Amino acid sequence: AGLEGRDSLVVMPTGGGKSLCYQVPPLLAGRTDIVVSPLISLMKDQVDGLRANGYPAAALHSALDPQERAEAERFIASGDCRLVFVSPERLVTSWFLETVEHLGIRTFAVDEAHCISHWGHDFRPEYRQLAILKERIPEASIHAYTATATQRVREDICKQLALADPAVLIGNFDRPNLIYRLIPRLDLRGQVREIVARHANQAVIVYCISRKDTESLAQHLRENGSRAAYYHAGLEAETRHRTQDEFANEQIDVIVATVAFGMGIDRSNVRCVIHAAMPKSVEHYQQETGRAGRDGLEAECVLLHSPADSLRWRTLLERSAAEGDGNSALEGALALLDEMRRYCAPGACRHRSLTEHFGQHYEPPNDNDCGACDVCLGETEGLVEATREAQMILSCVARVGQSYGLGHVADVLRGADTERIRSLGHETLSTYGLMSDRTQKELMNLTFQLLDQRLLERSSGEYPVLRLNDASLEVLRDERTVHLVPAKTRRVRTTAREAASWEGVDMELFESLRQLRTELASERGVPPYLIFSDASLRDMAHRKPATPEQFLDVHGVGEKKLADLGEAFLACIAEADDPAGNGSSEPGPFPLSEGKRA
Ligand code: ZN
Repeated sequence: AGLEGRDSLVVMPTGGGKSLCYQVPPLLAGRTDIVVSPLISLMKDQVDGLRANGYPAAALHSALDPQERAEAERFIASGDCRLVFVSPERLVTSWFLETVEHLGIRTFAVDEAHCISHWGHDFRPEYRQLAILKERIPEASIHAYTATATQRVREDICKQLALADPAVLIGNFDRPNLIYRLIPRLDLRGQVREIVARHANQAVIVYCISRKDTESLAQHLRENGSRAAYYHAGLEAETRHRTQDEFANEQIDVIVATVAFGMGIDRSNVRCVIHAAMPKSVEHYQQETGRAGRDGLEAECVLLHSPADSLRWRTLLERSAAEGDGNSALEGALALLDEMRRYCAPGACRHRSLTEHFGQHYEPPNDNDCGACDVCLGETEGLVEATREAQMILSCVARVGQSYGLGHVADVLRGADTERIRSLGHETLSTYGLMSDRTQKELMNLTFQLLDQRLLERSSGEYPVLRLNDASLEVLRDERTVHLVPAKTRRVRTTAREAASWEGVDMELFESLRQLRTELASERGVPPYLIFSDASLRDMAHRKPATPEQFLDVHGVGEKKLADLGEAFLACIAEADDPAGNGSSEPGPFPLSEGKRA
């Protein structure tokens, strides 16, 4: 479609290769194409990355100084530039449209095209102006890129951009190198600490719902020795940029952030993405977890969820609708939330659920087993019959007169000795201490599950209290069975892929190469991943190339990288192999290491 000038709608996940789809056609056709992109920081990174690989690209945006701008304009006018990145608001200026017409530019890629639809998960009003493209340049071919699953949003994109008979192309949504885990949230800080510890000195992103949560959790991780920082839209632009840069330059390992973090981040060696709570749509979840393992190496995605999350989102969404987003947006948002809630329900393989959500068939690598999710790894326990426990909780709600909140009911059930219980005389109730083998957090989790299944109600207002409904009475009368996810902490297993991926890699050499990468990056003022990805470094530490020809065989190395970086990295490998500096390329006195290399 890109070469034939046919409009297209390309549905592809983050990291799925959509940039290749718009990079290759102009290169083959020897023409200049436009990419409309929502974020300046993202454009800058993409252009830097392309140039480092010898690809002629430029960006026009408000952050350029006059000289950079004049240089970019000259380059574009020369006709040698293959891709020009612009923001939607710059594209529709009359100056830019005239330039486009003058240069005969006819092909436009619209990145993050779902931003044009208010049914989507990230509406941006400035995208609406793109409707002007087909009016001004009727022969233009437009290629809209999105990762959204909703049919309504896909239709809206085609309509708003006036796409003519577009080729609808759906990419591969499965990311086999990602390991998905959904774990009941019982002790947020402890669980996050434990997961971060599994990825010591590696890049981790933790997503939280609120700004306040990001600050307190980052603080907690710092106190426990992690190089952590927080990030949200309420910070000064300068602070945000500094934090992004420090993360990109590997000076920070853990970023605790709201959804505001990520679009401008291209660090490819993020080894873990943690969701401290359930996100509000599967699209958000897919996009945010998609930031892990972009180098193709294994990475872990952990969703710490509680049934309380969907109640919290519902309140937030209803509030923002009341404040002006309107009810049509609320309806869409609640539908997206409900899909996310279903994804979190226990049961099927996570790779399968995610892939099928985006309208694709999932083919597991083994028989009915992805080998890379908590379900297939046998870590989950699934639903168990828990009618008896539900009855204990519900009868405690009745015993306290349906007048108290979650925390107090849990306190009574576990038989806590608190001032409040004594002053109310609740230690004399028949349900006092009835579930003393459970912790407060486990009891809260089980009660939230009952609320989520509508087997119990909670009043609204500042001090919500628990109340029984008709379904609660059926449970209490033994007319209804209840299934709950056991609220217990879990053990995680090592996947076959994780074990295989480090096989044959000289760890010491990998660390030396990583250090060299950091030094070169800081000398050049670019992020380390622009020098080489982790996948390239691991491959180097595995193959140990000794000549430029062998260096070309390394993952991610082309002529340009060889000329630019080959000498430094080959020297580092030779040095590690021959620390005494004997300079001997003959088989050394240690045939064992030769054997390992083969
Ligand atoms: Zn699975």
